[in-house]
Amino acid sequence: MTKNQPRSQIRSENNAKDDSNDPQPPMRGRCLCGAVSYRVQGVLRPVWDCHCVRCRRWTGHHIAATGCDRERIRILGDEALRWHHPEEYPQVAYGFCVRCGSSLFWTVVGSDTISICAGTLEPPTGLHTQYALFTEDASDYHTLNLDIPPLPR
Ligand SMILES: [Zn+2]
Ligand SMILES: [Zn+2]
Repeated sequence: MTKNQPRSQIRSENNAKDDSNDPQPPMRGRCLCGAVSYRVQGVLRPVWDCHCVRCRRWTGHHIAATGCDRERIRILGDEALRWHHPEEYPQVAYGFCVRCGSSLFWTVVGSDTISICAGTLEPPTGLHTQYALFTEDASDYHTLNLDIPPLPR
């Protein structure tokens, strides 16, 4: 765990790769109100469900997140994007839309990768759910899908 204080704002623009030579059209996603949208170039990681207490509270259920290298995502409208750093894990950053409250991103300060809440992507995503994490933290009402294996440690 790092002792560095998190940056209050994580810059997400101006670091996107020039995608003009990439034959694949970018995948797009957005929040409920559309104030925050994004484009991702290239292949996304399969979806991982995280049931940890923080992800459970932040999403109201569990996070279902894909992910990619930060340089492959271009976030538009990030004046409406805010990052919440949990007090007990300030290096963790949850990105949400300040206008509509949608959960959008998850990352670790200084990390090269970003997790994307898969439900914000425009379907068809072509993704599948690969692993489940911290299923022991799921709430008691939650009927877990036991076909989703735990993330290998
Ligand atoms: Zn919004
Ligand atoms: Zn989690």
